[in-house]
Amino acid sequence: MSDSPAFSGQDPTYDTWRHAIVDVKDVVIIGAGPSGIATAIQLKRYNIEPVLLEQEGIGGLLRNANLVENYPGFPEGIRGLDLVELFKKQLENAGVRVTFERVLKIEYRDEVFFTKTNREVFTSSIAVIATGTKPRKISDLPISDDIKDRLFYEIYPILGIKNKKIAIIGTGDAAFDYALNLSQKNEVIILSRNERTNCIPVLRERCMKCENISYLCNVSVKEINNECLKVLLTCTHNDRQEKIQIGSDYVIFAIGRVPRLDILGQELKKSYERFRKANKLYMVGDVKNGIYRQTAICVGDGLKAAMEIFRNTGKNSI
Ligand SMILES: Cc1cc2nc3c(=O)[nH]c(=O)nc-3n(C[C@H](O)[C@H](O)[C@H](O)COP(=O)(O)OP(=O)(O)OC[C@H]3O[C@@H](n4cnc5c(N)ncnc54)[C@H](O)[C@@H]3O)c2cc1C
Repeated sequence: MSDSPAFSGQDPTYDTWRHAIVDVKDVVIIGAGPSGIATAIQLKRYNIEPVLLEQEGIGGLLRNANLVENYPGFPEGIRGLDLVELFKKQLENAGVRVTFERVLKIEYRDEVFFTKTNREVFTSSIAVIATGTKPRKISDLPISDDIKDRLFYEIYPILGIKNKKIAIIGTGDAAFDYALNLSQKNEVIILSRNERTNCIPVLRERCMKCENISYLCNVSVKEINNECLKVLLTCTHNDRQEKIQIGSDYVIFAIGRVPRLDILGQELKKSYERFRKANKLYMVGDVKNGIYRQTAICVGDGLKAAMEIFRNTGKNSI
């Protein structure tokens, strides 16, 4: 076995993973959001059996979406969770099994990808990274442990709550979409650091019309404390420097997202283009799409990756 240039140097974990090499799969897909789901369904249509790994829940970020109005086929729009249910049904009908394991690391050695999860190691000739994005976290505010369970970066864990007061920090599409979703049964305040919003007009207009949503712009959050079972946000107005305090039951941070690439070792990240050109490693969906993070684009990416895999594995010849 020769050492791949991407993995030269010492790696103590490799020897302990080597045993997995006896069962090399065609394709491992990491992430069962829209892009990973589309890749898996299309591969199945080519009789390629993918291993689809998911650490949390099928549907990924789409589980947070209030009303998806730009995914063709749903003239009235469709709620994010309802679209996820349809995706699940389609996975089932296609015979795709989702393996619920968290990928810790992926490496390439001797022409094989080693995908190490919290339970086992999968080996494959091809890997598809469909891990989406992770939230940008607040790093500059001290937060006491006793309120951490009331601070969120995504809303699907609290979609069932009602009659609560929720503060959402952010100015983009996600902040306004979260507000519309949660305001159906709760009171919501959106706090923005800027004078202007940064979301699409239709979301802003709906929020402005909703009586359960208020909007406070030009404020910076300075402290987050626990006070009488409420999360107390202490803010300053950016122009007037006056102090404003807001009490809420929950706080949602919607302050941006970054590609979730932590599982790729430095070497694999560095050599991505080379692996991509060799049709061995694919990235699909939000993880690689910069600001163009939309479900239909993710689905298109997944289909295209599956089609390329089919063409390049030689499985299309009789
Ligand atoms: C509030 C909100 C509203 C939205 N509204 C719309 C809309 O109206 N229209 C639209 O087109 N799009 C909308 N979107 C965007 C859409 O949800 C995303 O573009 C889409 O979900 C991205 O799909 P993806 O598969 O690339 O990534 P994701 O959906 O992020 O899925 C990635 C998956 O990978 C899994 N994963 C990550 N790391 C690992 C690991 N190490 N091991 C195992 N699994 C892992 C994650 O758990 C996740 O399930 C909205 C998004 C949000 C947040």
